[in-house]
Amino acid sequence: MRLLLIEDDDRIAGPLTEGLGRYGFTVDHVRTGAAGLADRAAAPDLVLLDLGLPDMDGLDVCRSLRARSTVPIIMITARGEEADRVVGLELGADDYLAKPFGVRELIARIRAVTRRAGAPAYAPTGPVDVPQTQQQAASAQVLGRLTINRRTREVHLAGGQVALTPREFDLLAFLAKDPGTVYSRQQIMDAVWDPHFFGPTKTLDAHVAALRRKLGDPCWITTARGVGFRLTVPGDHTAAEASG
Ligand code: CA
Repeated sequence: MRLLLIEDDDRIAGPLTEGLGRYGFTVDHVRTGAAGLADRAAAPDLVLLDLGLPDMDGLDVCRSLRARSTVPIIMITARGEEADRVVGLELGADDYLAKPFGVRELIARIRAVTRRAGAPAYAPTGPVDVPQTQQQAASAQVLGRLTINRRTREVHLAGGQVALTPREFDLLAFLAKDPGTVYSRQQIMDAVWDPHFFGPTKTLDAHVAALRRKLGDPCWITTARGVGFRLTVPGDHTAAEASG
C-alpha cells in the first residue's frame, strides 16, 4: 500500500516514514502542499495530510485533492485546530489524527478508512459512462433511476456512473438499506462515521448536500426536521404518502 505523506516537520515525518515502512507501507514524503498536489508516477492509495504547511493552507490541499480523486485522506492536526478538523471533514477528508499519535494508532485509522473505502482508491471523479456487466447488475440495488452496487461500491444514475467519495458512498448505502425509513442523525453518525461519534455533526449536512448535488435532485434525500434523513425515490408516491 502506497501512502503520500504531506508533512513539513521532519521530526514527525521521519519516525512516521520509518514506522510505517516496518509495517510494509511504502511512503512518499513531501514537505509542501504544492509537492503534494504535483502529478506523481504512482498514485497513492491514501494521503496523510498535515494541515499546517509552509506554502499553503492544508485545507486547500484537501479541497484540491478531493476535487480530483476519491483517495482516502487522513488529516494530521495540531492542538488548537479543532475548527479546521470539522472543515476538513466537510471538504471530504475521511478522518483525522491529533498530534501526538503513535504509529499503531495511525495504522488502525488507515485500516478503518481503507476498509470503508473498499474500492480502488484513486478513481477519477466526474461522470463516466461505464456499461454495467451482468455480474454488477446482479448484486446491485435498483431504486428508480439509481443503481447502488455494494460489491463494487459503484453508483449509477440513469446509466452514468456517479463519482462518490468513500464516505458519500457509505452514507448513500446506509440510507438505501431501507428507503423511506427516517434515520436519526446519531444513527447515521454511528453507522457511517464512528460508533459513539461525539461532536459537531455539521459534516453530515455537508455530505448530504454533496450527495444531493451529485444525484442531481435534492429529493433523493429528504430532511425529517429535528430528526434526521431518509432516502426517497423521486416520483415514488408510495414512499412520499407513507412518510406523510
Ligand atoms: Ca506542519
